[in-house]
Amino acid sequence: MSVQHVMELIDREAIAWIDFRFTDLLGRSHHITVPADEVDEETFAQGIAFDGSSLPGFCSIEESDMVMLPDPETAYIDPFTEHPTLIILCDILTPDGEVFDRDPRSIAKKAEQYLQATGIGTAAYFGPEMEFFVFDDVRYEYTQNSYMARVDSIEGHWNTGRQEEGGNLGFKVKHNGGYVPVQPVDSLHDLRSEISRLLIAAGLRVERHHHEVATAGQCEINFRYDTLVKSADNLMKYKYIVHNTARRRGKTATFMPKPIHGENGSGMHTHQSIFNGDQPLFYQKGGYGNMSELAMYYIGGILYHAPALTALTNPSTNSFKRLVPGYEAPVNLVFSKGNRSAAVRIPLAAVSPKGARIEFRTPDAAANPYLAFAAMLMAGLDGIKRKIDPRALGYGPVDKNIYELTPEEKAEICCIPASLEEALDQLEADHEFMLAGGVFSKSFLEHYIAIKREEARAVQTRIHPYEYALYYDC
Ligand code: GLU
Ligand code: MG
Ligand code: MG
Repeated sequence: MSVQHVMELIDREAIAWIDFRFTDLLGRSHHITVPADEVDEETFAQGIAFDGSSLPGFCSIEESDMVMLPDPETAYIDPFTEHPTLIILCDILTPDGEVFDRDPRSIAKKAEQYLQATGIGTAAYFGPEMEFFVFDDVRYEYTQNSYMARVDSIEGHWNTGRQEEGGNLGFKVKHNGGYVPVQPVDSLHDLRSEISRLLIAAGLRVERHHHEVATAGQCEINFRYDTLVKSADNLMKYKYIVHNTARRRGKTATFMPKPIHGENGSGMHTHQSIFNGDQPLFYQKGGYGNMSELAMYYIGGILYHAPALTALTNPSTNSFKRLVPGYEAPVNLVFSKGNRSAAVRIPLAAVSPKGARIEFRTPDAAANPYLAFAAMLMAGLDGIKRKIDPRALGYGPVDKNIYELTPEEKAEICCIPASLEEALDQLEADHEFMLAGGVFSKSFLEHYIAIKREEARAVQTRIHPYEYALYYDC
């Protein structure tokens, strides 16, 4: 959509407010709202000033005047406001009109430009598979010293032996048995259809939705892949629509990777491929999984840099509670044609040239999509440039269930970091590949790592409820 189209849309739909949004380092959306009458073509050229000093990792007080530059391509009508409102996503510039080196969306754009500059291809496609939980209620309190949380689910309690207040009508999801049962067991069907309808209205191409494995209201709604920045924009729209549709129906939705111990967590498997014009570069009939050598090197780059990548693709202390054996989330750095326990999977063994892609299963939706997609592309491109062959480095292929390998076989395989701290150590040790072409800056990485270390420290130094179960009477 051009600026002119946006101005026409504002008139046609009698839009009263323009909601300018940007994404911070942590992947959270922020907005500033302007009366539609105050917005004209100039606004799109000059941007809107805002104070960046109060946002984590953005800037210091001395350099707080930042500018949001709206991207007309991203405009969509907010389905949740009482007053007609148009949302437009923005890049962040410094007061001098320079690209701000810590703006996630600008980093993602630079990654796309870098791909073109390498001459390897013209576009990288990203397709994230989003999973999330819907709860009736979440209660948590925190004070300086303690933190208590409880989630209630319309579908939980099956295995707990607890009696529900007020009784219930049965048709419960069995423990880890949520994968695609029909209603009334699947009580979230209408909510997913409603979310999907709003996603379509916002311009996403919804491909399907279903209940996921976990007992307690786990959902998946898939939308079609797109180029890197567009896909990350779509993901920001997606989260906004999921959170607010649930809220409007008196429920709460979360992308937290592992909200419930003993149940599957929520991943953000990320499908990726590179094209040169309309030429798919990942397909080669007869190769392993019908993948080209270039695709193999891309996989090599992803797996080789995966320990560092997890600091961006799995950027929460909670992320590493998902990455444990037994819950369809990967723990091992190997690739495979069909194996869901591998970190990299080749879906459907690349049945068509255009569909040939890799699926990196490690990421979760706590990630900032702009940063995570950019970092994955940089890792894959580094693999291509340096011809990192995953077969030569012991990354597989492994076509049997890794959870069932013998201890000797397992010892050969590298593992994903066990904690956020470990992932941050890995990122500190391995980030040159992200600096190529000026895509990520050292200053970005320093700020990012400092924020995340503080998060890890804050969790680590608090007393966990389970410590009472283990140690109270010691
Ligand atoms: N929920 C699983 C995960 O945490 C993935 C299930 C699936 O394969 O869709 O990655
Ligand atoms: Mg799934
Ligand atoms: Mg998947």
